[in-house]
Amino acid sequence: MDNMKLAKLLFPDVKLTPEDLELKYPPRDLPEGARVTRFAPSPTGYLHIGGLFGALTDVLVAKASQGVSYLRIEDTDKKREIDDGVSAIIKGFDAFGVEFDEGVTGFGTEKGDYGPYTQSQRVEIYHAVAKRMVENGLAYPCFCTAEELSALREQQEAEGALIRGYFGKYAKCRELSLEEIEENLAAGKPWVLRFRSQGSEDKRITFEDLIRGKIEMPENIIDEVLLKSDGIPTYHFAHVCDDHFMRTTHVIRGEEWLSSVPKHIAMFKACGYKVPKYVHTAQVMKFDDETGDKRKLSKRKDPEAAVSYFVEKGFPREAVIEYLLTLLNSNFEDWRRANPEADAMDFPFNLKKMGASGCLFDLLKLTDVSKNIISRMKAGDIYARVAEWTKDYAPDFHKTFTADPAFSTAILNIDREVPKPRKDIAKWDEVEDYLAYFFNEPQADPALLPERVSPADAKAIVAAYLPVYDPAEDKDAWFARLKTLCPDLGFCPEVKEYKKNPEAFKGHVGDVSSVVRLAVTGRTNTPDLCTIMQLLGKEKVSARLNAFAAKL
Ligand code: GLU
Repeated sequence: MDNMKLAKLLFPDVKLTPEDLELKYPPRDLPEGARVTRFAPSPTGYLHIGGLFGALTDVLVAKASQGVSYLRIEDTDKKREIDDGVSAIIKGFDAFGVEFDEGVTGFGTEKGDYGPYTQSQRVEIYHAVAKRMVENGLAYPCFCTAEELSALREQQEAEGALIRGYFGKYAKCRELSLEEIEENLAAGKPWVLRFRSQGSEDKRITFEDLIRGKIEMPENIIDEVLLKSDGIPTYHFAHVCDDHFMRTTHVIRGEEWLSSVPKHIAMFKACGYKVPKYVHTAQVMKFDDETGDKRKLSKRKDPEAAVSYFVEKGFPREAVIEYLLTLLNSNFEDWRRANPEADAMDFPFNLKKMGASGCLFDLLKLTDVSKNIISRMKAGDIYARVAEWTKDYAPDFHKTFTADPAFSTAILNIDREVPKPRKDIAKWDEVEDYLAYFFNEPQADPALLPERVSPADAKAIVAAYLPVYDPAEDKDAWFARLKTLCPDLGFCPEVKEYKKNPEAFKGHVGDVSSVVRLAVTGRTNTPDLCTIMQLLGKEKVSARLNAFAAKL
C-alpha cells in the first residue's frame, strides 16, 4: 500500500504538519518538576460536584509545583451539548473562586499560548496528526455501515469472542487495497478513520497511576475510531493530540477512563509522543436517603450533584472548597490545624494523599464546616455576601435587609468576634428566618414558655419588668436588673443556689430571662438578648412585652 498516496487521498487539503505544530506549541519553559494539568469538561449543561473536585485537584496540583493548569472545553459530541454549557461551567468555577492559569475564560474567550482551548476549533490539528498516522501506516479509512457493524457484533457474540470490537480478522476495512478505497471514496461512501492497532492479544501492559499504583491490563488490540465520518475526532484521539500539544504532564480525570488507558498509551506511542502521567480520581458518592446504600451522586436524584445547588442555597464558597479539600486529601485537616488562617487555595496538594475509593459527600458535614467558617467571618463581610445573595435569590428580603446597612450589620455582629462565636448560620438562605424578629413582629407562642413558668407567672414577670426596663443598661446591669426582680416573683436570682434547693423556688433567673426573650423575639434561643433589645429600641421592646402579656 502506498501510504503517502492514501494520506493525500484522504486529506487533500491538509498542509499543516506535526512538525509545524511542534514549533507552534513548544515544550513549556517551566521549573523542574512543574506539573501541567487540565480540566476538560464537555459542555453538557452543568457543573457536577465531581467536576469541581477534579478542577480543584488540577488547579492545586499545578499551583503546588509552580506549574500550569488550564481549562479545555471538549465539545466534540455535539449531540450532548447544550447552548450555554460553557457559561454554566465558567459560572460554576467563578462562584467558587477556582481559577485556571490558561484556557477558556468565557463563551468565545480564552487566554494562553497553547490554544485554541476548545476542541471544535482544533480540527486542523487533529487532521494534521491523523494524516501523519495514515502516512505511517497507523491509520486507515473504514467504510463499514452501522448495519455492518451491528452484524459484526452479532457474529462476535455467536462465536463467543472474548474481545468485542473492530480488530484483527473482524476488521474488514483493515486490508482494503488503495484501489478499493479509491472506489469507495469516488462512490461518496462515508468513512471514519481508524487506528491500525499494533497490539497483540496475548500481551499485557503496565502503567503507573499516581493514586492507584501499578496497574496491569491487556494491551489494546482494537482499531479504535480516531475521526468520525464528519471529520470530528473521538474523545480518545483528541485526548492524545491535545494533551501532547498543550504539553500536559498529568492527566487527572475520572476513574471511568481507567479502562481506556491501554488504548491511549497505544495511540501516544503510535504518534511518537511521550505518554503523560495518569491520575484516575474516585467518584463522589453518598449514602442513599432511602436504602442507606453507598452510591454515586446522581444528577437526577440529588440536587447537590450540581454545583449550582450550593450557590442557590448560599453556601459560602470557602465552605464548599474547605469541605471538598477534607474529602480530597487526607492531610488537609492537619495542614489546616497548622495554618488556621491560610487560604485553602494555598494548600500544598499531594496527589499521593488522594484516596482511590469513592469519597463520601455528606451535606451535614458540609453544613458543619460552613457554620464554623461563617462563625469566624466579620459582620461586614457577612452583610455584603447576604446582600449579594439575596439580590438574586430572595429579592423581597433583600429590600428589608439592605434598607439600613448599619442596622443589619449590627445585628449580625451580636456575639461575633468573641472567643467562642455562635455557629447558627450555615448558609445565606437561613438568614431571613434567623433575623426575622428584627424585621417583623414575632408571634410569641405561650406554649414555648419554660416548663417551670406558668402563664400567670409569665404575666407577672412581664408586669414587673416593664416599669424598670432601661434600654441604656449594659449586659451586666441588664442581667442584674432581672435578678432584682426574682425574689418578689418567687424565682431564685442565682442558678447555683436554686439547684441546691429547687423546692424553695418556682424557678431561677434563667427562666425569667427566657420569658423576656420569648416575648421580645418569639424564640427560645437567640444571641445576646440585651444587645437585641438595644438594637430593637425601647418602643418596640415595650410594645412586644405588652403584646405578649395580653396573650397570657
Ligand atoms: N471530556 C471528558 C469528560 O468530560 C474529559 C475526560 C478527561 O479529563 O480526559 O469526561
